[in-house]
This record gives sequence, C-alpha cells and structure tokens, in this order.
Amino acid sequence: MRLVMSGAAGFIGSHLCDRLLADGHFVLGVDNLLTGSLRNLEHLASHPGFAFLRHDVTQPLQVDGPVDGVLHLASPASPKDYLQYPIETLEVGSAGTRNLLELARRHGARFLLASTSECYGDPLEHPQRESYWGNVNPVGPRSCYDEAKRFAEAMTMAYHRKYGLRTNIARIFNTYGPRMQLDDGRVVPSFIDQALRGKPVTIYGDGSQTRSFCYVSDLVDGLVRLMFSDERYPVNLGNPAEMTIREFAECVCRLTGAKPEFEHHPLPEDDPQRRRPDITKARTLLGWEPRVPLEEGLRLTIEYFRSHARAGADRFC
Ligand code: NAD
Ligand code: UDP
Repeated sequence: MRLVMSGAAGFIGSHLCDRLLADGHFVLGVDNLLTGSLRNLEHLASHPGFAFLRHDVTQPLQVDGPVDGVLHLASPASPKDYLQYPIETLEVGSAGTRNLLELARRHGARFLLASTSECYGDPLEHPQRESYWGNVNPVGPRSCYDEAKRFAEAMTMAYHRKYGLRTNIARIFNTYGPRMQLDDGRVVPSFIDQALRGKPVTIYGDGSQTRSFCYVSDLVDGLVRLMFSDERYPVNLGNPAEMTIREFAECVCRLTGAKPEFEHHPLPEDDPQRRRPDITKARTLLGWEPRVPLEEGLRLTIEYFRSHARAGADRFC
C-alpha cells in the first residue's frame, strides 16, 4: 500500500514507519518538526520505500499518484509541548485532521486517527471503556489537547458518515520507548534522565495518581491491526497494568541503579488522577494485547537514553 503518515518524525510515528516499511508498504512521512526530529528518521534516509516531506498539515496537502491510506499522528503529545503550543495543537487537531481526511477522501483511501485517552479527561469511570464520554474541562490548560482530539474524533466520524470513508480511531494510552525526546517533560523520559544524572526524581503531587504504560512496539502492532479492521468507533490501545507514579519512580530508580531520592512538585491543574484502559474491545476485535512487560520495555528505553539521547544531549550542552 502507498501510505501517507503525518507526525512521522515523532516518537510513535517513526516506529510506525519502521513497521509499515518492514511489512512492505511505501510510506510518505509528513512532518513540520514542531516536536519531532529528523534524527528519528535518519536510518530511513536511503530506504527505497520511504520519502519525507516537511509540511505543516494545517495547510492543505496534495499528493501525486495513488494513496491507499492516510495515518494522522501529527500533534504535540506531551503536556509540556501542548502547553507551549496550545494554538498549534488546536489547529493540528482541527484543520490538520480536516486536511488529511480530505486527502483520504480525494484518493478513496482509508484513514487512521491517533486519538488519546485524554478524551476521557480526569475520568470518573475506571478503568476507561470506549463507551465512557469523559470528564474534560473545556477551558482548562489541557483543553487545547483534549478538545482538539475530541473534535478530531467527531470530524473523523462525520467523514465516515457523510462520505463512507473507511476510518479508524485509536485512543492511545501512555506509550513509551526509544526516540522519546529526553526533555519533552513526560514522566518516562524525565524520570530516566533524572535517575541517570543522579538527580532527585520530580514527583508531581504526592505520586498517588496512576498511569498504565505501554511499550511502543505493542502500540504499533495495535495500530496496524486497527487500520486494517472494519471497526469505525474508537478503540483503546494501551497496557492495562496500572501503577502509581510513585511506584513508577521507584521502578526507574531500581532499574537504573539510582538512589531513590524524590522531590515533590505541585500537581499540574487537571492532571488525571487515575488512568487505565479497558482493552476488551481491542482483545475481541483485533486479537491484540500488549506483550512487553514494563521492566523489559524500561530496560530497552533506559539503554537507548544511556547510549543515544544522553550522548546527543551532552553534545548540545
Ligand atoms: P511526538 O511529539 O513525538 O510526535 C508528534 C509529531 O507530530 C512530531 O514529529 C511533530 O513535529 C508533528 N507535528 C505536530 N504538529 C504538526 C503539524 N501541524 N504538521 C505536521 N507535523 C506536525 O508525539 P508522539 O508521542 O509520537 O505522539 C504521536 C501521536 O500519538 C499524537 O497524535 C498524540 O496525540 C498521540 N498519542 C500519543 C501518546 C503517547 O503516550 N505517546 C498517547 C496518546 C496519544
Ligand atoms: N509526572 C511527574 N513528574 C514528572 C512528569 C510527570 O510526577 O516529572 C506525572 C504527571 O503529573 C502525571 C504523570 O506523571 O500524573 C504522567 O505524566 P505525563 O506528562 O507523562 O503524561 P500524561 O499522562 O499526564 O499525559
């Protein structure tokens, strides 16, 4: 298949490119490098199945020749990033989604949206099933991301209903792995970086809030299964193994060999208190479930940060 992927230079996008190319597809990666990096794609520079276009998808996109699938992953994803770029985040979720849906419609292509567990906001239902409508503050600091994705989901369903487009919506829960930016503020790279530097680990609030962490290869496998399925409504993709942020900090310290020293900072506004996907739908419809245990995924991620990212960060210091 000839596929167009927005957000290809990002963390998840670059891994998804690797997988789709390995499966024999052609991929045109599109990215404006707002939060991604060409370093994530440099190993594909001479791959015959891969091409890269630097483009902001909030502007219309024309692609010559056939397009069989459009995958829309472009969006700042880390709270630090979307708080820094709130308007860009709203635009890529709204105008960006519309432009890519139009591209898919013109070519009769299928369309996959990378949505998020943030659609559930600070959830009052636990674990979160796809049928839950969420508890989102529409004017809080996270609303630029949450509402952009909720709009993107609504627009995707409208294109499916009005034009019969073959659409899929993945509600992605916290995913981690190599190629995350060391300084993107998310809990996984932040804790690993701090532990490797021998600095205290910064826990926001008392650390009793929970998350469930999915290794990137598992997530990518779920996305590929979903994009070839006939399910039009959202499907949760994430690892249901839930833990508190304090437990997670202890785990990172243990695996890096760092002394467990914690520094408490205020909890950010509207920080979800509990998050864990119910993946019954993905299990049933896609035969999918995560396989990589947290400690194994974290070891691979720590190794990556030890070798690649830290070396890079030191060079720029
Ligand atoms: P990322 O920041 O590493 O990647 C996002 C990419 O989108 C970047 O390369 C960025 O430059 C690009 N981008 C942003 N705005 C753009 C625009 N207007 N035009 C073109 N490119 C643009 O983030 P990620 O973690 O890889 O997330 C990828 C997708 O998955 C996002 O849509 C995110 O909302 C979703 N998601 C991720 C997670 C997670 O835990 N990583 C969880 C839920 C949802
Ligand atoms: N967090 C933390 N210390 C950090 C970064 C994040 O305690 O240095 C917490 C954050 O408050 C949240 C959780 O870790 O409760 C996950 O944060 P992240 O930014 O990775 O993503 P989120 O799940 O909030 O989108």
